[in-house]
Amino acid sequence: MAQNLAGPEIERLIQLLARVPGLGPRSARRAVLHLMKKREELLTPLGEAMRVAAERIVTCSECGNLDSMDPCSICRDPRRDPSIIVVVESVGDLWALERAAVLRAAYHVLGGTLSPMDGIGPEDLALGKLLDRASRPEVREVILAMNATVEGQTTAHYITDMLSEAGVRITRLAHGVPVGGELDYLDEGTLSAAMLSRTNL
Ligand code: ZN
Repeated sequence: MAQNLAGPEIERLIQLLARVPGLGPRSARRAVLHLMKKREELLTPLGEAMRVAAERIVTCSECGNLDSMDPCSICRDPRRDPSIIVVVESVGDLWALERAAVLRAAYHVLGGTLSPMDGIGPEDLALGKLLDRASRPEVREVILAMNATVEGQTTAHYITDMLSEAGVRITRLAHGVPVGGELDYLDEGTLSAAMLSRTNL
């Protein structure tokens, strides 16, 4: 068994950081060494920022976004169009769409996708709340911005059925050739999806 080289406090820090996605024990050790070197500029403010986040960040009871207030700042934003709800799997997907800044609409975070293999059923996702929101008179369109995976598409079908009586237009993101993509490099699934969802010019 590998011997611990550092004291228990540092080992604990390394073990915790190693559990962060994208890091492993090796990156965590490098990160901790860097933090120790930059104690004033990085370690102290990071510790304070994490303490504040642990205390104040909550899940929005309306849309499922993360923020320091509930409802979140997106749900409170009066410049957004409340007639469109964009359904996403995760807060990370919401952030990605916000970075693209293409639509100023409302969001709904499901908290995952239906996955019978992993034992994730409808009751594990924020589907009841979505039905409730989509049935409100001001809502005209629900955009299903799910990942182009089997689970994402299964979930999109489930939601389409669930909302069939809600009286809203249901749309989904286009699947196809990525911006800047070359046909020769695309897989067959992407190419056939692009061909099937071709549009008029
Ligand atoms: Zn919200």
